[in-house]
This record gives sequence, C-alpha cells and structure tokens, in this order.
Amino acid sequence: MVVSKLDIVVIGSLNMDMVVRTNRSPDAGETLIGQAFALSPGGKGANQAVAAARLGAEVSMIGRVGKDTFGSEMLEIIRNEGIHIEHISVSEHQATGVASIVIEEDGENRIIVVPGANIELTVEDIQALEAVISQAKIIVLQLEMDLAMSEQAIAIAHRKRIPVILNPAPARVLKDEMLAQVSYLTPNETEAGILSGMTVDSAETAEQAARILLQKGVQNVIVTLGSKGALIVNAEGAKAVPGFPVKAVDTVAAGDSFNGALAQQLVLGKTLEEAVSFANAVGALAVGKEGAIPSLPQLSEVEQFLNRKSL
Ligand code: ADP
Repeated sequence: MVVSKLDIVVIGSLNMDMVVRTNRSPDAGETLIGQAFALSPGGKGANQAVAAARLGAEVSMIGRVGKDTFGSEMLEIIRNEGIHIEHISVSEHQATGVASIVIEEDGENRIIVVPGANIELTVEDIQALEAVISQAKIIVLQLEMDLAMSEQAIAIAHRKRIPVILNPAPARVLKDEMLAQVSYLTPNETEAGILSGMTVDSAETAEQAARILLQKGVQNVIVTLGSKGALIVNAEGAKAVPGFPVKAVDTVAAGDSFNGALAQQLVLGKTLEEAVSFANAVGALAVGKEGAIPSLPQLSEVEQFLNRKSL
C-alpha cells in the first residue's frame, strides 16, 4: 500500500535497547554490580521517526524487524505513535536488532549494536519501495543499516528531487558520490572527524571538517556540538546556533531527537537556522530524561520549554 500524503519517510533501524546503569564501566576481565536494568525501545531510525511524529509530522518508516517478541513490541510501539508501519518488514531468519547500552553516573553512554534484521533490508527491497520514497517531502537516514541499501535510497530521493537528511551515525567513511546527494548531513563532532579525516575538538576544527564535507558535495553540514548546540556550514558561510544547556540525565537519543526535529521543522518550511534552534531545544529536553523513545518530547513540552527560555 502506498500512503498518499507523507511529510517524512525515515529509513532506519529498530532496536530493543538493553540499558544497564552503573557508577562506572568495568575494566577488561572485571565484573561489577550495576544499579539498574531496563528494556527500552530504540534504534536510531525508530527514535528519529518517533521524535518527528511527536512533534506532529506525518511519518512512515521503512525498516525490518525479526519474527520475535522484540520485533512485535517494536511494531506495536511505533504504530501507537501514529507512524505508518506498512513498510517495516519481518525477517524469517534474523532476530530484531538489539543495543547493549551502559550508562555511567555522569550520563555518559557506551553502546554496542547488534543489527540483526536491520541489515537484511536490501537494495532490491528499497528499489521496490521507490513509490513510498517518492511520496515524502523529506527522507531521513542513519548508518545502522546496509550501506548499499542506504546509498540506493539516497540515489532514489536525489533523482526525485526529495531532500535527504543523513545522520552519519555510527560513523563510517562514505563515498563522495553518496555525500554529493545529501542535502543535510548531521554529524556530531566524532562523526565529523571520521568523515572528514581530521581531528574535531573545537568549533574551529568542526568548521574546517564541515568545509571538507562541503567540498565533497554535501549541501549543508550541521555539526551537533552537545550542550553547545550546533554549527551550520553551507555555501552561505558558517553559523553557530547556540544550544539550551541542561544537566544531562541520559544522552541516549540526543542526536536522534535533534534529527527528527530538524526534519519536522524543515517540512514546516522553517529556515535552516530556525529549524536547528528548535532541534537544539528538542535535544536538550531528550537529554534531560532517561531512555531513547521515552525521552522524546511532545510538541507541547517543546513549546513550554521555549516559552520559559524566552521569559
Ligand atoms: P550525539 O547525541 O549524536 O552524540 P550531540 O551530543 O552533539 O550528538 O547532541 C545532539 C544535540 O542534542 C545537540 O546539538 C544539542 O542540541 C542537544 N544536546 C546534547 N547534549 C546536550 C546538553 N547537555 N544540553 C543541552 N542540549 C544538549
């Protein structure tokens, strides 16, 4: 079935997050007693889709889960957010993706993702969904799926002149041909470093890395800078968009909430600077709460937060 009107198509991962909270991470060979454990729905694709949907966007998700309990739970959760799930397929062979997440006392996280069914979505699968991609006002992708499939999805969107947000996480070196078809690339500092081949540890080096990526053909690079907000770099120049610093309770899904919000704001026709500022507010709210999907704010919460900030 093809949905007739869509704001955003998110092509991405659905993972069940297994979250352990601990004072500190163990050294090699060491066993520690942790503080708490929780199962929580996540995956960069699912997080970004839910972030956009909670802000009011009409979202469809393309992805793949396993034929197992985690898969059924993920589908149920995504559907309850009002997201179209017709194009999330179910694998006969692979388990639903999982992420093992360790969160330390200061909110810092360490994550291992086992993609399972996510990477079974193939080039042929995405080609068969060209009509769905064509229906979108904007496409959002990350890098937890098969890279050839992601390249194909971006090529289809480019051919149809549909803007693409690529959140290059987890980071890997990408072909220039792929980067040249990306409208909005949203690395954090680490990812900007890996993509550009230089060390990024300051606003200056973030801008230099972004310029390298612009030379490869990306239209707009938006480097997210944690509590400091984000830096937009494009043909018009570089613009720092300040964040809304908050005490980090759990930084999981900060980048994902930012990307979902950015997509939703661009669909509304906001300028890039307005969209990034709003996305900074959404990111701040997400780090102020525990979990991935559970931490994503509703539109009313973002509006209240921004009203308080402007008083
Ligand atoms: P990632 O989560 O991908 O590593 P960042 O740490 O750069 O990316 O965070 C993404 C966005 O989330 C930032 O650009 C900012 O808007 C918001 N954010 C992250 N950490 C904080 C924080 N401590 N206070 C306020 N906003 C934050």
